[in-house]
Amino acid sequence: MTTTDYEAIPAVERDQAARHGTVVMKFGGSSVADPGKVKNVARRLVDACESGTRVVAVLSAMGRTTDELLDLARKISKTPDARELDMLVSVGERISCALCAMAIHDLGHEAISLTGSQAGIVTDTVHGKAKIVDVRARRIHEALDRDEIVLVAGFQGVSSEQEVTTLGRGGSDTTAVALAAALGAEVCEVYTDVEGVYSADPRLVPNARKLDVLSYDEMLEMASSGARVMAVRSIEVARSHNVQLHVRSTFSDSQGTWIREEERLLEKALISGVVHQREETVYRVEGTTAARLFGALAEASINVDTIVQTGSEIVFSAPVEDRSDAEHALEALGVAWSARDDLGKVSVIGAGMKSHPGVAAKAFLTLENAGIEAPVVSTSPIKIACHVPSADVERAVKALHEAFELG
Ligand code: ADP
Ligand code: ASP
Ligand code: MG
Repeated sequence: MTTTDYEAIPAVERDQAARHGTVVMKFGGSSVADPGKVKNVARRLVDACESGTRVVAVLSAMGRTTDELLDLARKISKTPDARELDMLVSVGERISCALCAMAIHDLGHEAISLTGSQAGIVTDTVHGKAKIVDVRARRIHEALDRDEIVLVAGFQGVSSEQEVTTLGRGGSDTTAVALAAALGAEVCEVYTDVEGVYSADPRLVPNARKLDVLSYDEMLEMASSGARVMAVRSIEVARSHNVQLHVRSTFSDSQGTWIREEERLLEKALISGVVHQREETVYRVEGTTAARLFGALAEASINVDTIVQTGSEIVFSAPVEDRSDAEHALEALGVAWSARDDLGKVSVIGAGMKSHPGVAAKAFLTLENAGIEAPVVSTSPIKIACHVPSADVERAVKALHEAFELG
């Protein structure tokens, strides 16, 4: 198996001959949830094309299609084969693209839909969590030169062993950013069902504020702490290839949130947002070294988040979806371990906290006043993350959002 554990970023070369005016427009599942919405997206793409832009669209599967396909697989087998699962779930994105191409044709414009493989998205061989290692965009360029709108199925690629792979949940974001990097696009526009990135999940905190601009680092921390508005890996790719992102609404023309280099931000907010994850598994392990433990977890492609080590005990967290893989890895190591499923995580994020003491103190005081215990706490220069009981996540987000006056 060829994995890319040492190289997190695809080696996509910015196209030397990149023509000006290329824009990658990515539409999420809710933006293409039904035929009417697909036609709406087609209209937007045609409008962009008619204003002189070379348009590459990346579409997600319609609505809950990916979840439905996964459910279907589970009805057949408890342990579906990873290769076949990728063959199955990659279909969702193809449906959206083919339908949208038809809608564009009906609007009198040329368009072509491409699978990830046809679009030249080359990945490693890790089914279900593949990483893009190269983008061979020749076919896209040819279609753009013929004045066609190019629709690329998100979330998928072809491995170095010619197998269909998928990139993990939310992977269409990564497809879009990698294409934008490879094509030298001016911007990667990420169209979704909210107006941009907010100071907290707008579904949870009604007075959350739309943020005008964020640095890559802030967005990376927000995404990896649970703001599912953009996939973590897509931000890593954007940062390393300096792809400007614009997260905005499919259903309006208003400005959304720009994500770019920190140096280009005029003013850094002390705190940009409060991000949450309702559930995260927290493991406690004893009887091994950190090197051995995390080596085994990396081998099993587990996305370890928080790590705390005091004495011989190692505490770490990982996504709920990785539970069974983590269990297998821990059993294979033969260590003493336990796991908690009753915790979620609330994180306070802001580039300005680097130079302002007292943010952690205020966060802890806020939680204490709300009577919420935080058994695991971890920090980075721009983040304070507290694991709290899942049942208290919502209250903690609201209290912190209010305490830092983000509304
Ligand atoms: P898409 O289908 O377009 O990929 P997602 O569901 O992946 O959309 O992401 C959009 C959702 O992210 C929003 O509906 C919103 O509920 C959620 N979300 C969570 N945190 C935030 C945040 N801080 N800002 C904006 N949206 C957020
Ligand atoms: N359809 C895939 C998912 O639901 C990929 C994506 O939407 O980005 O995760
Ligand atoms: Mg998404």
